Amino acid sequence: MFQIGTNWQLWDLSRDFDKAVSGIGLRGYKREEPILLPAEFSHLSPLSVGDIASIYCPTRRDLFLLKKRRLRGSSTWGRIAGPLIEDFCMGLIDEYKNLFDGSSEESYDSIKNLMEDYSNRFITNKQGALKKLKRHSSAPAEDVTNFILVLQYTGRYELAMLGADWFLNGGTSPNNSLLARVPIKHRNVQISPDAKVIGISSPSTPDFLISSLQVVGDIKSGAAFKDFYPLTCAGYAIAYENQYGSGNDMNFGIIYFLETHSRAFATARSYAFVIDDQLRHEFLDRRNEAFEILLQDTGTPPPLASRDQYCIHCKYRNECDKDR
Ligand code: SF4
Repeated sequence: MFQIGTNWQLWDLSRDFDKAVSGIGLRGYKREEPILLPAEFSHLSPLSVGDIASIYCPTRRDLFLLKKRRLRGSSTWGRIAGPLIEDFCMGLIDEYKNLFDGSSEESYDSIKNLMEDYSNRFITNKQGALKKLKRHSSAPAEDVTNFILVLQYTGRYELAMLGADWFLNGGTSPNNSLLARVPIKHRNVQISPDAKVIGISSPSTPDFLISSLQVVGDIKSGAAFKDFYPLTCAGYAIAYENQYGSGNDMNFGIIYFLETHSRAFATARSYAFVIDDQLRHEFLDRRNEAFEILLQDTGTPPPLASRDQYCIHCKYRNECDKDR
C-alpha cells in the first residue's frame, strides 16, 4: 500500500478538488435527514458499512439470508483469498516501512530478493489457508501458484514505489519517511459513530485511515472492480464525521484493489475519489433499503438474482439454488 502514499503526492487531490470538497453538504455530524436514520427503523439493530455497501446481490437477498435467517453461507475461493490479500498487504507495511532509511542500498534485484523472502515466510505462515484456497479453486485463474505470484508482483511494485518516493524526495532520512509524510494508519482502525442515530454500527472498521489528509480507504479484491466499492468509503466518512463532529471532515476515499482473475500478472491499483454528496446520497439510500430488508417477513425473501450474472461466486449459491 506504499503506492497510496507515493501517488497521493502526485495526485494532490486536496488542491485539484477544492471545489468538489467545498460543495459537500451531507456531513455525518448533521442531525437531520437524510443523515439521520428514518424513525421507522430506529428499533432495529445498526448495520455495518459492509452490510450496507457490499451489494454483491442486486436484490439484497444475501443480506436477508444473513440477517433474517442467520445463514453465513459457504466458504468460497474469494472469501478465503480476500483476508489473505489483506494480511499480505498489511504485513508488507509493518515489515518494510523503514526500508529506505539510508542504512542500505536497494536495487530492483534486492527488492526482488526481499519479496521472495517475505512471500516464502507468508506461505509458511498461511499454509492452512492456502491449502483451503487450493481446495476451492475451480478455474485456472484460481490457481494458488498464480495467486502467490500476483502477491509477489504486487509486493515488488509496492517496494519499488517506496523507493521511487525516496528518490523523488532526494533521499529521505527516517524522520522524513513516506509514512511520516503520509501517515497511513492500517492496524486496529476503529470509528465509533452514534450507531442508533445514523444506523451504522460501532465500531466501524475501515482498512486504513489517513486522518490528517482526510482520507479513508478499503482493500478490495476480486475478478473485477465493482461500482459499489466506493460506497464503503462514503459510509466510513459519514461514521467518522458523526463521531468527531464539525471541523473533522473526511473528504477522500481510496479503494486499493487487487484483481485476482487476470490473465496477465496484475498488481494492486489504488483508485482515489472525492466522497461527494452524490456518493453519500447513494450510500444513505442503500442504508435505508438495507433496513427495509430487515423489516421483511422471514418467510418472504427478496427475489433471486440472475444466476449467470451474479450467483456463480456467491456464498449463498447452494442455498438459493434450492429455490430455483
Ligand atoms: S446466490 Fe444469487 S440470488 Fe442468492 S444471494 Fe447470491 S447473488 Fe443473490
